[in-house]
Amino acid sequence: MEAAYSIDKGLPDPLSRQTLSFASRTLAQFNGSATTLLDQPPIFPRVQQHQPPPLVPANPLQSPKGGLEGLQNGHVSLETNEDRGSESTDRLSHELDWDTNYSTPNESATSVSLVSSSIPQQHNKSASPAPALHGSLASRQTPTAAARRPSNSAAIATTTTLDLSRYRPRSSIPSRLSTGMYAHQCIMAAYACRLNPYALHKKEQEALQDHLCHLHVTVYLNIRNGILRLWTRNPMVSVSREEALGCSKDYRWMNLASFAFEWLVRNGYINFGCVEIPLPPVPPKKGRRREGPVIVVIGAGVAGLGCARQLEGLFRHYRDSDTSPRVIVLEGRRRLGGRIYSHPLHSLKSANLPNTLVPKAEMGAQIIVGFDHGNPLDQIVRGQLGLPYHLLRDISTIYDTDGSPVDEVQDAMDERLYNDVLDRSGAYRHKALIVPTAEGDRKLIDAGRDVAVDDGVTVRQYEEARAAGTIGLLFPAKRVRRGVSHKTADLKPTRVPPPTTVADTEEPPAAFTCQAMGWKLNDGITPTDSIDLDSIAKQSVHQTFGAVMDEGFKQYQRLLPLTPKDMRLLNWHLANLEYANAANVGKLSLSGWDQDMGNEFEGEHSQVIGGYQQLPYGLWSLPEKLDVRTNKIVTQISYDPTSSAGRPAVVHCENGETFAADKVILTTSLGVLKRQKIKFQPPLPAWKTGAIDRLGFGVMNKVILVFDKPFWDTQRDMFGLLREPPNKDSMIQEDYAKNRGRFYLFWNCIKTTGLPVLIALMAGDAAHQAETMPDSKIIVEVTAQLRNIFKHVAVPDPLETIITRWASDRFTCGSYSFVAAEALPGDYDLMAQSIGNLHFAGEATCGTHPATVHGAYLSGLRAASEVMESILGPIKLPTPLVLEKGKTFEPPPAPTVSTGQKRKGPPSAEALLGPGLAPSEPAPTPTDPLREAYEKAIQAAIHAELGAPEPRPAKTGLNPFLLYQKDYWHKCKEQSDEAARTATNNPNARAARDEVRHALGQMWRAASEAEKQPYLEQIEVNRQTGAEVEARWKQRTGEWEKRAAEIRRRWCADNPFERWTSPRRR
Ligand SMILES: Cc1cc2nc3c(=O)[nH]c(=O)nc-3n(C[C@H](O)[C@H](O)[C@H](O)COP(=O)(O)OP(=O)(O)OC[C@H]3O[C@@H](n4cnc5c(N)ncnc54)[C@H](O)[C@@H]3O)c2cc1C
Repeated sequence: MEAAYSIDKGLPDPLSRQTLSFASRTLAQFNGSATTLLDQPPIFPRVQQHQPPPLVPANPLQSPKGGLEGLQNGHVSLETNEDRGSESTDRLSHELDWDTNYSTPNESATSVSLVSSSIPQQHNKSASPAPALHGSLASRQTPTAAARRPSNSAAIATTTTLDLSRYRPRSSIPSRLSTGMYAHQCIMAAYACRLNPYALHKKEQEALQDHLCHLHVTVYLNIRNGILRLWTRNPMVSVSREEALGCSKDYRWMNLASFAFEWLVRNGYINFGCVEIPLPPVPPKKGRRREGPVIVVIGAGVAGLGCARQLEGLFRHYRDSDTSPRVIVLEGRRRLGGRIYSHPLHSLKSANLPNTLVPKAEMGAQIIVGFDHGNPLDQIVRGQLGLPYHLLRDISTIYDTDGSPVDEVQDAMDERLYNDVLDRSGAYRHKALIVPTAEGDRKLIDAGRDVAVDDGVTVRQYEEARAAGTIGLLFPAKRVRRGVSHKTADLKPTRVPPPTTVADTEEPPAAFTCQAMGWKLNDGITPTDSIDLDSIAKQSVHQTFGAVMDEGFKQYQRLLPLTPKDMRLLNWHLANLEYANAANVGKLSLSGWDQDMGNEFEGEHSQVIGGYQQLPYGLWSLPEKLDVRTNKIVTQISYDPTSSAGRPAVVHCENGETFAADKVILTTSLGVLKRQKIKFQPPLPAWKTGAIDRLGFGVMNKVILVFDKPFWDTQRDMFGLLREPPNKDSMIQEDYAKNRGRFYLFWNCIKTTGLPVLIALMAGDAAHQAETMPDSKIIVEVTAQLRNIFKHVAVPDPLETIITRWASDRFTCGSYSFVAAEALPGDYDLMAQSIGNLHFAGEATCGTHPATVHGAYLSGLRAASEVMESILGPIKLPTPLVLEKGKTFEPPPAPTVSTGQKRKGPPSAEALLGPGLAPSEPAPTPTDPLREAYEKAIQAAIHAELGAPEPRPAKTGLNPFLLYQKDYWHKCKEQSDEAARTATNNPNARAARDEVRHALGQMWRAASEAEKQPYLEQIEVNRQTGAEVEARWKQRTGEWEKRAAEIRRRWCADNPFERWTSPRRR
C-alpha cells in the first residue's frame, strides 16, 4: 500500500515514492533544525462568530479534569478478555477498564516484561453522563421483541422554513481582506479539505447537474470554498448555516449556499470531530420524546468512534423536537482505540513529559503521515484537541551486519537502483479511469469573482457536450452575435501535456540509467543493455510485485558489479515497503499494490507526544461522552438485506445480550471478517465475501524496549539495520526475504514517551516469526543486534519490554489491509458497500487511504453520511436554486407545528431537514455494486493491455482579447495608475485589477481592425492547430476504443459475469 507510514512516505512529490537516502534527506529537507513542536498552529477567530465560545479547551485531553484521567493512569489487570466475566455492563460512561500491564497489548498471547516487580493496580472511573438510553435499550434486548417493533421511530412533522430574507449576503466575507487574498484563502481551504477548489466533487455534480447553469459552477465553488475557509480557520467551532449563507455575495445565491452547507455537513467536510454542534431552534414539544432511530456501531476504533461522533453531530444538526435518535457503540475489548493503543510504561518515571502525561509506547498506529493537504486529523489533533506532537526527521544511519554505518554514497546509489526497479515495475500498474467533473472558471475563482449571466445550459448538458466535443453546437447563435463568448472550457488552463511520441515515453535502457546514477557497468555491458521485466510481469494476471522486484534485482546483477552488501541494502528498502504493506512483497498485487498512490498528504510525519490513544479518547469524550459499551463481543448480526421490510437488525453478543437497531455499522477489521469471527444472518452475499477473500490483511509487529539510559543518538528519530540471509553473503535474491524485516528499523521514542525507549519493527516474514517465537529469544536477539551496533558502550538489558502479536489478537487478527495479488480494482469499494441496513466502515473500506488511521476515520465519516442518507433521503435542492437577478427572498409564512401524527418509515426527514431541503422521494437504491465491480475488472483488463485512453487535448488561445490583454496589460496598468493618482491626488495610488481589466476591455473595443488583426490571425492559427491536434487525437482514440471493445469481448467471454461473481474458494 502506498499511503502508509513507512519512512519513505509523505515526500513532497507524491509521485516520487523513493526512499530518499538518509543522508540526502538531512540536507534537502530538514536543514538540521530541532523539531519538537509543542506549540499549535495559529487559529484565527472567524469573522462573524455567532456560536457560543468553544467548549473544548486548548488541550482538554491533558487538563487534570479532562476526559482522559483514565488513559493517563492505566488500570492494571492481569486477566485477559477471555477470563473476564462478561456479566457486567461495561459502559464506558460508567467504568473504564484500562489496559493490562502484562497481557499483550492486544489481549492476545503472552508478552513478557523483564521487570518482575509487581505494579500496584488502580481503578479509575470517569464521570459519566446520565445513562439516558440504558433503560430503553433493555426493552430491546430480545430479537423477538425487536422484530415486532416497527422499524425506526415514528416521524414528527415539525417544519421550520428557512427565512432567507433574514440572512445577509457577504456577512462572512471579511471586508478588510482584498478579494484576491480572500479567494486565495478559500482555495487553500478547499485543498485542506481534500476538495478540488476548481471543480465539483462527483457527488456535488450528481446533485446539481440538472438544476444548475454550468456558468454558475464558479459561483457555487466560490461559496463552497468560502464555507470551507470558515471551517479550516477555526475547527473548534462549527460553521452555522447563517455563516455559510454569508459566504454568498448576493441574495441570488443564498439557496445555492444553503445547499453547499448541507452537502459539506452531510459528507463530513465541515463540522466533524470533537466539535459542539449547536441545536437548531425547534419549537419545544410537550410530552415525552419518541424513540428515534437506534444506530449500533460495532467497534470502538477510530472508524467506529469517528462514525458515532459524526452521527451524534448530524443528529443534532437535523434535530427535531420530539425524537431522540440513539447511537450505541459496542466494543469487544475493555479499552477504546482498537489498533491505536498506547501502552503505559511502568519501569521509569519521566521528567520530560508535561505533568498530565504518563509515558506510553505505541503498540499499533504511531505515525501521522503529514497534516497538510486534506488530512482530517489536522483539524482534530491540532485544531480541536490541541495534542502536542513531535515532527519526525527521517534522517538517520543504516548500520551494516558488522555494526558499521553504511557509507552514504553506497546507500544513495543502492537506493537509486531500488527506485529504478520500482519505477519500471510501475509500468504494470493498473491505471484508474478518472472521469472529470464540471469545473468552474479558474481565473474567476482565483480572483474571487462570480459569474452573473445565465445561458440556460445546465451542468449536465454542458458536460455531455464537452465530452462529445459538440460545445460549439450549444451556442451557435451567441457565438455569432457576441464574437467572444464566455466558455468555461476555453478559459481552463492547459492541463493536458502536448501529445508525446512513443519514443518520448520509452524508458532509457537500464545500463544507461545506472551509469547516470554513478554505477560502473560490468565488463562487456554497454549503455544500450537493459533489463526485461515484461516476461515475468505478464506471466500471470495475478503476478506479484515481489516477483517483479526480485527479477529486477537478479537482472541487475548481470549489468552491475553488485555485492552482498548491495543486496542487503536493496532488501532493506523492500523490508521498508513490507512495513508499509504489512506483508511480504511477494504477496502484493503487481498492478494494484499502490492503488492509493496520489492521495498522500503533505507535510512532515509526526507522532503524538504522550500517546496516540489521546485521539480515540478525544473522539469518545468531547464535546460529550459517547455511549460506548466495552466488553461486548459481537458474535452474530441479523440484518435486513433489502431494508424494504423495514425490519430492524439484531446484534448478538457473546454474553447473550442482544441489541436491536435500525442501522448497524460494522467497523471490525478485515482480519476479523476473514476469520469469520462474526456470523451474519442472512450470510453475506458472494460479492462481499469475494472482496473479503481477495484483499489481503497483513501482519506487522513491534518490539518495545525501555532502557535505563539512552546509548544511541537521541537527536535522531530512527536508525536502520541491514540483515543478512541465513545463507550469509548470498547473491540469491529469494534468500533475503526471511530475515530482511527483522528489526530492520528502530524508532527512537524519547521525544514522545519521555523515556529512553526504542521500538524495533518486525516487518514482512519477520512479523509472522514474532507471533510464534518466545519472547526471551526475541529480546536476546534484538539486544545482541544493538550491542553489535553500539560496540563502544555497554548496552544493558532492557528494563521493560513488550512484544506485540497482532495476528494472534482475536479482535484484529492481523495489522492492516493490503492489495493482495488476487485483488480486483474495485474491491475496497465493495468492502465499503452497505447491504440493506448493515453498513461497513474501517480502514479496509477506504480505498483512497487504506491501512491508516486517517483512512479509518474517513471511512467512519462516509458510513455516517450513508446512514443519514438512508434515513433522510438525499439532500433536496431548494427551489429556486438560483434567484433571478435583482430578486430577493420573500419572508416565508410562519412555521407550522404539526399535530405529531405517527408515520411509518424513515423518521421525520422533512422536519429534520428544515430549511426547504426535505426530500420528497425516498433514498435512491444504490447501483448494483457487483456490476460496478465487474465493469471495473473489465476496465482493468483493458488498461492492463492498452493503458489509459489519451485525454482530450485542451483547446487554448481561442480568445483574441486574452492575447491582446497579455500584450497591453502593463501599458494599460500604467495609464490606469496615472489616472488614479490624478483623481485622488495621491502619488502612491494604484488602480485595482478590475479597473485595469475594465479599461483594457474598452481599449479592445475601441481598437482599430488593423490593431486587432494580428490577434484574430493568431486565434485562427490556434484554431487550426487545435483542430489538427484534435483530429489526430480522435483517430487515436477511435483506434483505442476499437481495441478496447475487442479486449472487452474477449475478457467477458473468458470471465462470464455469473462465474465471476460466484464465491471463490477460501
Ligand atoms: C502495528 C501497527 C502499526 C500501525 N501503524 C500505523 C501508523 O503508524 N499510522 C497509521 O496511520 N496507521 C497505522 N496503523 C493502522 C491503523 O492503526 C489502523 O488502520 C486503524 O487504527 C484502524 O482503525 P479501525 O477503526 O478501522 O479498526 P480497529 O482500530 O481495529 O477498530 C475495530 C474495533 O472493533 C473491535 N472489535 C473487533 N471484533 C469485535 C467484536 N466481535 N465485537 C465487538 N468489537 C469488536 C476491536 O476491538 C476494535 O476496537 C498501524 C496498525 C498496526 C496494527
